[in-house]
Amino acid sequence: MQAFIYNAQAARVLFGAGTLAQLPQEAERLNMQRALVLCTPEQLTQTQRVADLLGSKCVGTYHKAVMHVPVETASAACEEAKRLNADGLVAFGGGSTTGLAKAIALETGLPILAIPTSYAGSEMTSIYGITDGGIKKTGKHPKVLPRTVIYDPELSLSLPLGLSITSGMNALAHAAEGLYAQDRNPMTRLMAMEGIASLAKALPLIRMQSDHTEGRARALYGAWLCGSVLGSVGMALHHKLCHTLGGSFNLPHAEVHTVVLPHALAFNAMAAPDAMNDLAHTLGVDNGPLGVYQLAKDNGAPVALKDIGMKAADLDLAADLAVKQPYWNPRPFGLAQRDEIRALLQRAFEGVTPGYG
Ligand code: NAD
Repeated sequence: MQAFIYNAQAARVLFGAGTLAQLPQEAERLNMQRALVLCTPEQLTQTQRVADLLGSKCVGTYHKAVMHVPVETASAACEEAKRLNADGLVAFGGGSTTGLAKAIALETGLPILAIPTSYAGSEMTSIYGITDGGIKKTGKHPKVLPRTVIYDPELSLSLPLGLSITSGMNALAHAAEGLYAQDRNPMTRLMAMEGIASLAKALPLIRMQSDHTEGRARALYGAWLCGSVLGSVGMALHHKLCHTLGGSFNLPHAEVHTVVLPHALAFNAMAAPDAMNDLAHTLGVDNGPLGVYQLAKDNGAPVALKDIGMKAADLDLAADLAVKQPYWNPRPFGLAQRDEIRALLQRAFEGVTPGYG
């Protein structure tokens, strides 16, 4: 066995249906006397329960979280936290809300208690992102890692079916790329395989019945593990492509992950045979990338970039941008591989089965 370094996540995790009820004790544990609750406008009603549970320990609810954390939103939220003299942040929602909490924590050092209601996994990472002038800048800082995470599957029952499947595939993408990450280790492999297995079981249950209790619990458990992989190791080609497509062409985050993943995996298959074996074994199929494609398709998720807002005319530019500043990848991709990346994007655009371009 090779030597490795594993950085455990610092967060305390509570998992299970009904765990939201423990929020007051958990906020107390973090010495929060004046918590600011964060959410999106869409989840304001749902968030009222969080404010009610905190009672006098809640100084306000800021409901303006939006996708990709625009710098103006982050600044206004920081001002609100300072104005209210908040001593902690409770992020209730998906990756956009957690992202806003991280932006405030980066500036103020306030502790975050996260209550994820989607499967994005941001609550398990110290990665933050802020968008300024249309460009999303990301970074890493330990102070943005939530101190406590409450995973209550009952809160994800309201996640719309389509987003539940694509958000689950988004989570799966973290683990799939974690399997061949340059800094992978036996712990992240365990978490990745268990996370993928759990999501692969969960998504068909949710597709069949959106409020399937066991399906929702398995999906959230998988999302936790996959998010932990994302927080522990570096990502590669797939995340670079999604960052490019989402950032420069404004494609929806979870959907773009869903569509691109099988193609990025197929591109890497020859260079990462052990990871492909793990993936195929975990999914119970012969071909991992094809298994991932089929999982998305069978559960009604989009499989083509053309169906989620991408224009054919932008594919050339997307390929140019993706190879400009490449991430580490098991199969190198840079200016010299521009045509292979363009071919990958074409397959993803059309939604055909993944190939070994
Ligand atoms: P999101 O947070 O934007 O949520 C999408 C929509 O679904 C929002 O309107 C939200 O309010 C709603 N929603 C979420 N949970 C719901 C529920 N249970 N019931 C009803 N509605 C619900 O999307 P997302 O996919 O969760 O997160 C995507 C964002 O997170 C992206 O900006 C991405 O870059 C970021 N992200 C960051 C990291 C990181 O480590 N920093 C990791 C993953 C994702």
